[in-house]
Amino acid sequence: MLFRQLFDSTSSTYTYLLADSGEAVLIDPVKDKLDDYLQLLGDLQLRLVLALDTHTHADHITALGDLRDATGCRSGFGEQSASSCASFTFTEGERLPFGNKALVAWHTPGHTDDSYCFLLPAHDTQPARLFSGDTLLIRGSGRTDFQNGDARQQWASLQRLLSLPGDTDVWPAHDYKGWTCSSIAEEAAHNPRLQVAGADAYAALMASLNLPNPAMMDIAVPANRACGQD
Ligand code: FE
Repeated sequence: MLFRQLFDSTSSTYTYLLADSGEAVLIDPVKDKLDDYLQLLGDLQLRLVLALDTHTHADHITALGDLRDATGCRSGFGEQSASSCASFTFTEGERLPFGNKALVAWHTPGHTDDSYCFLLPAHDTQPARLFSGDTLLIRGSGRTDFQNGDARQQWASLQRLLSLPGDTDVWPAHDYKGWTCSSIAEEAAHNPRLQVAGADAYAALMASLNLPNPAMMDIAVPANRACGQD
C-alpha cells in the first residue's frame, strides 16, 4: 500500500494520499494544490477513486469538487455536512473502499457537527492508522466554538478514539509546529487536552481559549459547502 502525507503551508493542512492496487483516495485535499495532486497521481500511475473531507473546513477551500471534475472520482462528505454538491455522503461505520483496502468512517462530532475520523485497520505488521481530522491533533484538539462545535461532544468523541489500540498511528488534519504523526498511546499520555478530569473540565478548558476566527472562515465555509466551486 502506498501512503503519503502532503502539506499545504498556507493553512498548515495535511492531506493524505493512500493507494492500493492502483486505486487512490485523498483525504482533506486543498484547492490550491489541485495541480500538484494531479501531477502526483499521474507520476505514480494511480486512479483517484475517492476524495473525502473529514469535515467542512473553515481555514482553506476544499479540492473535492475540482478533483471530481478532473478525475471522475467520487467526492464525499459526512451526512451531517450542509453540502449540496457531494457525489455521496458517508455515515457512521461506513466502509470506504479503495483497491483491496477500506477506510472506516467514525462520526466524531465536537469540532464541528459533521466531523469524522477515518480508520484504516491494522494489516500485516502495520498498525492501524487513524486520520483524526481536527478532532484529535498532536498535543491538541480542534476548537469547538463555531460551526455547531460542542466541547462535551468532542470529549465523548476523544474518549472513543482513546479506545483504539495504543499503537494506532494518529495522522491529524493540521499541525502548526511541524509535528507530523503521533499515536493513541502518546496522545493519551501527553496531550494536555486529555489530562483533564472529564467533560465539564474539558468544556471549561475549551471555553477559556478565546481564539480569533480563522482568516478565511467567511469565505471558506460557504465555498466548501459548494465543494470548493462557489
Ligand atoms: Fe477544522
